[in-house]
Amino acid sequence: MTLSTHNSAPTAPTAPVTGTSDATAPRGAASDGAAPDGRRTSPGPGLVAPAEGGQWPRPVPVRTVSEERLHRKRKLAAAYRIFAKFGLAEGLSGHITARDPELTDHFWVNRFGLDFSRITVSNLLLVNAKGKIVAGQPPLNTAAFAIHSQIHAARPDVVGAAHTHSPYGRALSALGVPLHPISQDSCTFYQQHVVYDEYNGVVLSEDEGRKIATTLGPHKLAILRNHGLLTVGPSVEAAAYRYIAAERAARTQLIAAAAGPLRLLDHETASFTAGQAAQSDQWDRWAFDALYEIIVSEQPDLLT
Ligand SMILES: [Zn+2]
Repeated sequence: MTLSTHNSAPTAPTAPVTGTSDATAPRGAASDGAAPDGRRTSPGPGLVAPAEGGQWPRPVPVRTVSEERLHRKRKLAAAYRIFAKFGLAEGLSGHITARDPELTDHFWVNRFGLDFSRITVSNLLLVNAKGKIVAGQPPLNTAAFAIHSQIHAARPDVVGAAHTHSPYGRALSALGVPLHPISQDSCTFYQQHVVYDEYNGVVLSEDEGRKIATTLGPHKLAILRNHGLLTVGPSVEAAAYRYIAAERAARTQLIAAAAGPLRLLDHETASFTAGQAAQSDQWDRWAFDALYEIIVSEQPDLLT
């Protein structure tokens, strides 16, 4: 059966989802898996990415808190560089954040006004729960705090969050429709994303950020109507790669819908395919790390 994108029933929830943060928090999330002595106590976040090279498989190494902090900052700086390279940034808008592994109500973010292509580990800002910069040089993007503080507060399982005004995500958001299950790739978001069906101007208040976080619920992607995409993940790597994947899925959907009626996969097939990506957290991290190896070799100054 041939279906149109726009007269078929939405295949992902579009209504706000509530009361999910506790249900989605992994064991030890409050301390982010780190014991008081600084060693991680979680069973480990899986295997290192094949892109790292060397013997494989091997587990992700145990890290002290300071090692984990540096790890997250390196991945965060790299994510900004990759977003710049892929054309996902727009002017002064956009932000990617990493929860601090020790001060878990603090997050690392870019300095406002600095192009994504100039982000380094050393020029990231550390921001507390009240929006005060406790490390790094001002200024801070008010919208970055308004949105990301509420996402990190509502979702203890979230380490990374990404939001920019990328071209295809923004175009899809103008339609106010979800990503339809039209390809293997788009199925990774099937019933795992929402449409935030409001637009109330630039997000400058924590109340608006809280509404977005409530609508996001336990999902990994929110399409903010007339605005853009927002992704989250249990690592900076997963959040950043999900953003890239969602942007590409939006591009595919827009191109396909412009070319003709869409053939949507049925619910059973889309659900089955989504289930095959049950290791999505690890696969998203691996996919990001493949890009990380490239960006670090091309732009090694990002690690300074
Ligand atoms: Zn925005």
